[in-house]
Amino acid sequence: MTTAPEWVEEIERRHDDLIALRRDFHRHPELSFEEQRTAQIVAERLSAAKLEVRTGIAGTGVVGVLRGDRPGRTIAWRADIDALPLTERPAAPFASGTPGVMHACGHDGHTAVAIEVADILAARRSELPGTAVFIFQPAEEIIAGARPMIDAGVLDDPRVDEVYGLHFMSTVPAGLVQARPGPNLASCDYFTVEVRGQGGHGAMPHLSMDPMVAAANILLGMQTLVAREVAAQDTAVMTVGQIVSGTKGNIIPESAVMRGTLRAYEETVRQLLRSRLGSYAEAIARTYRTEAQVRWEGGSCPACVNHEAETAFVRQCAALVLGEDAVEIGEPAMPSDDMGLFLRERPGCYFRVGVQPTDGRPHPHHAPEFELNEDGLVAGLRVALAVMRRALVPLPS
Ligand SMILES: [Zn+2]
Ligand SMILES: [Zn+2]
Repeated sequence: MTTAPEWVEEIERRHDDLIALRRDFHRHPELSFEEQRTAQIVAERLSAAKLEVRTGIAGTGVVGVLRGDRPGRTIAWRADIDALPLTERPAAPFASGTPGVMHACGHDGHTAVAIEVADILAARRSELPGTAVFIFQPAEEIIAGARPMIDAGVLDDPRVDEVYGLHFMSTVPAGLVQARPGPNLASCDYFTVEVRGQGGHGAMPHLSMDPMVAAANILLGMQTLVAREVAAQDTAVMTVGQIVSGTKGNIIPESAVMRGTLRAYEETVRQLLRSRLGSYAEAIARTYRTEAQVRWEGGSCPACVNHEAETAFVRQCAALVLGEDAVEIGEPAMPSDDMGLFLRERPGCYFRVGVQPTDGRPHPHHAPEFELNEDGLVAGLRVALAVMRRALVPLPS
């Protein structure tokens, strides 16, 4: 087997197919758990490459198993396939054809890259020991697809030894790879605080029990909770993104509902704040003669914690195919990704690949202007292929 760089001619041959595939997914985005068309194309492509294909996992998830001709390790590659409820500000001819839905996080690229890796490895099956498992996960954007896929046994049958994946980043220069050991994305939890009081006339608050004032103090109190109970060297964020209360400026309402999210890198910090918010909110509410109830609901996942050895391995693979200058450790970031659940089950690494456009304008994730530089897409494929191939055939140490 050749050593490096990884099957350059093969990737050049697939270049147009990779771009076309990604543009097709981009043109036809689908929301979380509604990825029917996407899943069908994934399944067709994996079947055509003669992988064992399982569909309908966690609704719209797909798994392809590629068994090499010789026994060996089992390595999984995970890609998320869903889009977001946004209307794209059309720039490209392949912009979203579905109003209100857009691939604004790069998952179209993740899906296309994973299909190409499966295709390329399948064509070299006779050279491969072990088994490659390609996991196409629905509903990452609502942090809801990973859990049911793991529960359905995608890491157990066949039993996966390591799991890898990548996320394209429009804020990182195209082709730059970042792989950081330890926590690199935060945990995610959603909470609802419901405050109940006694409604009345806005001019006579002494005859009411104002839930809005209590809610406002609970919101401010959350910031104090973080500042005073989380060690300064650790970090966490509690944000309220929605407050629903009242109908008119001179009516004190009966209730106020706040919805927010908690993010943290350390599981101990996450659990501390989860356990404290309830009693904290109840105590503040009582001060204002109201009652508060805290519920934790909606998608939830731990921090994305990369394993030391597997992360060093990814950096080594990236340096081999892209050069040392194209690889760095990168900084942790507060967004979340339910890849963290896979990484809690098995060692592995979730790394980032830059896809920043070169027009100098911002193209943030989760925004109508999101855009992906296709040079970075190709770099992502090269690294993904190197990681999968070399994880199956470990380099001599
Ligand atoms: Zn996203
Ligand atoms: Zn994403």
